[in-house]
Amino acid sequence: MSDEQKRNWEKAERYLRRFRDATLGHFIDGEPRAGLSGEVFENRTPIDGALLGTVAAGDARDIDAAARAAARAFPAWREVDGAERRRLLHRIADAIEARAEEIALVESVDTGQPIRFMKAAAARGAENFRFFADKAPEASNGLSLPAREHVNYTLRQPIGPVGVITPWNTPFMLATWKIAPALAAGCTVVHKPAEWSPLTAALLVEICHEAGLPPGVLNTVHGIGETAGKALTEHEAIKAIAFVGESATGSRIMMQGAPTLKRVHFELGGKNPVIVFDDADLERALDAVVFMIFSLNGERCTSSSRLLVQRSIHDAFVERVVERAKRVRIGHPLDPETELGPLIHPKHLEKVVGYFDIATSEGARIATGGRRVGDVGYYVEPTVFGSASPGMRIAQEEIFGPVLTVIPFDDEEEALRIANGVRYGLTGYVWTSDVGRAHRIARRLEAGMIWVNSENNRHLPTPFGGMKASGIGRDGGDYSFDFYMETKNVCVALGTHRVPTLGSSPR
Ligand code: NAD
Repeated sequence: MSDEQKRNWEKAERYLRRFRDATLGHFIDGEPRAGLSGEVFENRTPIDGALLGTVAAGDARDIDAAARAAARAFPAWREVDGAERRRLLHRIADAIEARAEEIALVESVDTGQPIRFMKAAAARGAENFRFFADKAPEASNGLSLPAREHVNYTLRQPIGPVGVITPWNTPFMLATWKIAPALAAGCTVVHKPAEWSPLTAALLVEICHEAGLPPGVLNTVHGIGETAGKALTEHEAIKAIAFVGESATGSRIMMQGAPTLKRVHFELGGKNPVIVFDDADLERALDAVVFMIFSLNGERCTSSSRLLVQRSIHDAFVERVVERAKRVRIGHPLDPETELGPLIHPKHLEKVVGYFDIATSEGARIATGGRRVGDVGYYVEPTVFGSASPGMRIAQEEIFGPVLTVIPFDDEEEALRIANGVRYGLTGYVWTSDVGRAHRIARRLEAGMIWVNSENNRHLPTPFGGMKASGIGRDGGDYSFDFYMETKNVCVALGTHRVPTLGSSPR
């Protein structure tokens, strides 16, 4: 154990003690609350399966209390001046930055994500708050749409209390990505974090209140998706659901929300292609390919999990990817040298390991990896499947681990056919030095976000979201406000048009 890992561990222990000492409850109407049923679930670290504590398993009654609190808080929060909301959200960002170390260490132990990546979690979260804070004063501004005899203008108004349901991959950052624009828009929120990574959501709601957020504006209810999550999607007072998670869960949420006509925004799964042509800058492409599958333990929706390589460079390029994969440092997430930590949960480990067998049975070649590492914690080797064909399950299904499926192609048309031949459409990555080809591919790839000669590089004003089974709607910039707000048109006559008259002619 390096000195720094030891120091990290000691600090993490201090931050985690509170979660071991007492059951983690909900946060409703400005205060911590025990679960009404008294039911709890265990939260364990993926590093070695040790217990981190117990967590209240919220049910429909807890969700009802939170939704009512959010509904009570809404009329006042909606009326808070945009400039005041901006000030408050910046204070939340300051408070997040002040507790950055705690957030990083707790998230790292809770999720197994290497500390080298989690160090940025708080900074990214704070940035999300600052970005939407600055947009708050103008969020309600709409368009001026003048006609000949009428003036039309649009206003945007917060939709009401909303539900935010988040997954276990980068939970802190993703929660802020949803909650910050909702608050900036003037909505109140009930947040249901993922049951496999509940801890930093508890820090977030605490930080928001310490920074001065009024009671009831943000409420957090922990619990299992099929119970607490389901109740949130069905609650009458909740006007919209912002959901990040699996595509199958998205379908269920749509059905659950149908009777109350929920507006939904979905960020779902992906099986994203990275297409490497033989004229690309192969050094940069290599770095990007390796980074986009093995960073964040491969548990990222935007990971490029299908590598499509032009046949002329296929063998040489794949050999270099394999070499790199073999050198990716697996280890304890709190070791600053670690590049790949354990997968989140034994069930997820089982799923990922299952694909090693599927690959072999489908006739693919395991070029490297393909095994679990040790029997303590949920580690797997960085894995590359070679000789894959586009129809195989390993080329179609989201594995959500450090597992890359390589498929060769001959030309542009074939690359596009393979890239688009999946049910998902979140992101696509293209590596080529031919500008015309880059644009042609970008235009025809069925994905919500395309990166040309780049790894995933986020700019907050740009739209984020997927096509096909990867999502509905876009986040980022003004797009977020379109979801969290209603657009209202106001039409005012200039007094010059003829108003139709009825019943004015003599009988
Ligand atoms: P998941 O769908 O299992 O769970 C996500 C959340 O939904 C959890 O909080 C869970 O408790 C809740 N949930 C489960 N069933 C529910 C139900 N019936 N009603 C309401 N809520 C319910 O997803 P996961 O395994 O936690 O996360 C991984 C998935 O998230 C992957 O598919 C990944 O691609 C996706 N993801 C997508 C994006 C994106 O931006 N497109 C970002 C991150 C993760």
